[in-house]
Amino acid sequence: MAPDDRAPDSAGDSPNAPPPGDSTEPESGGISRRRAVRLLGAGVGGAVVAGGGGVWGYRRSLQASAADQERVRRAEIVVAGGSVGGLTVAARLLRAVPDARITVIEPREEHHYQPGYTLVGAGIYTRGDVLWDQGELMQPGMRWIRDSVLAFEPDRNRVRLEGGDVVAYDALVVALGVVNHVDAVEGLREALETPRVAHIYDLSSGEKYWGLASGFQEGRAVFTYPPGYVKCGGAPQKITWLSEDLWRREGRRDRIEVHFHTSRPTLFPEVPRVDEAVTPLVEARGVRNHYSSVLRAVSPSDRLAIFEEQRENGETREVRQRYDLLHAMPHARTPAPLREGPLTREGIGGQLEVDRETLQHRRYPNIFGVGDCAATGAAKTAATIRKQAPVLVRNLTDFLSDRPPSARYDGASGCPLLTRYGRCMMFEFDFEGRLVNEWLYQSTRETRLWWEFKVHGLKRLYRHVMLNGYV
Ligand SMILES: Cc1cc2nc3c(=O)[nH]c(=O)nc-3n(C[C@H](O)[C@H](O)[C@H](O)COP(=O)(O)OP(=O)(O)OC[C@H]3O[C@@H](n4cnc5c(N)ncnc54)[C@H](O)[C@@H]3O)c2cc1C
Repeated sequence: MAPDDRAPDSAGDSPNAPPPGDSTEPESGGISRRRAVRLLGAGVGGAVVAGGGGVWGYRRSLQASAADQERVRRAEIVVAGGSVGGLTVAARLLRAVPDARITVIEPREEHHYQPGYTLVGAGIYTRGDVLWDQGELMQPGMRWIRDSVLAFEPDRNRVRLEGGDVVAYDALVVALGVVNHVDAVEGLREALETPRVAHIYDLSSGEKYWGLASGFQEGRAVFTYPPGYVKCGGAPQKITWLSEDLWRREGRRDRIEVHFHTSRPTLFPEVPRVDEAVTPLVEARGVRNHYSSVLRAVSPSDRLAIFEEQRENGETREVRQRYDLLHAMPHARTPAPLREGPLTREGIGGQLEVDRETLQHRRYPNIFGVGDCAATGAAKTAATIRKQAPVLVRNLTDFLSDRPPSARYDGASGCPLLTRYGRCMMFEFDFEGRLVNEWLYQSTRETRLWWEFKVHGLKRLYRHVMLNGYV
């Protein structure tokens, strides 16, 4: 059954049930349904008032002048990577210039809605809810090459494909994302083959995790967060807290220890206000947070997770912890053609070297980057792509029209932080870690409204708004 058809708040012990005590009255830190409806009403009212000008401005923002259309039309535009980053940019370009010549290079036949992986690991979504046919997402007007980039050759304005073809371009958009680097942790690959270890950063492993968590009766559950850049920096916390909530609601929490090891000094160093709001909440629930603690090795035969923990005096020490369940989030890295090719440089971990505001490559002006693979320093989320895509399209159009880039990405990203079943904190933040539109989101409150939006609304936004280029 599609999650959209399910009642996430159906009564009973299922994880979809509302948290105990859910009513029209607020729980501590939450907002009531009545208030949520009022807020929503205020939002709709505001939208109607702003509507006239807003719709006009929005429609205008999707268009390009006749002169710009002519310049774009003449260009051969290639998009490397056809997931949410590549497709949102390609579709957005086609909104502005319907007969633009756009080629998308993407090997997968199935599109993965990765923001839904957390909900797979939490038993809310199933595999069918997060897999879509890639062909159905390709807009008419996009030429799809089902192959992988083997090498970038920016000095010759072309890419070489694994199948042997060479594709030339006038402008290139790089949207290769990041991949799991399981071998960065000694023994982890082998451990993932055992019944007690999984992670939600891969669909099959996420399904395995739900089986593990839902059947877990007692013992020590250990969750980890690796160093370096990561995809969706909220997901490891979300799955920790959802699991904790599941065990509590099913009456076995007192038999389970929950440990969260993060490589970082706090839970959310990038957004201090959220960090301050959420840390006491989860501490009160008995989650034991271990900061500056990096998983270095796993020994599956004796079920040991081996951490390197940095102490306040700067020294490090080894900490060995026995686990009964291990959720080990893999390190991330960019795919080899990017990581090992000419489009990156030393010191940025194999990411695409772009200006963080214009999204234009620093050395090759006809190359732009979007999404997880780009070294912008912003959070690696689909929410980031929603903000980056219009900037990239504007600046790509400027480039093809011989103008300097006129649009700037401000680092905005967002996160639906699922704190427990039926509750979510929703927040947007900028490059400086400041909350954006806090009044709208009620960012530091756990609310039912945003839970519903995460489970039912965001997927539609992604599928129908982003992938159709309405950003
Ligand atoms: C567990 C989890 C939870 C998440 N939760 C959220 C959330 O709540 N909210 C949110 O906004 N985001 C969330 N995200 C992050 C979001 O899914 C990513 O930020 C987003 O998918 C990045 O899109 P992308 O297009 O940059 O990269 P990807 O989606 O990773 O796509 C990269 C594409 O490039 C293709 N590719 C790779 N190598 C090559 C090659 N050599 N040649 C051609 N093509 C290639 C791949 O096949 C793939 O289709 C989550 C991610 C995970 C894993």
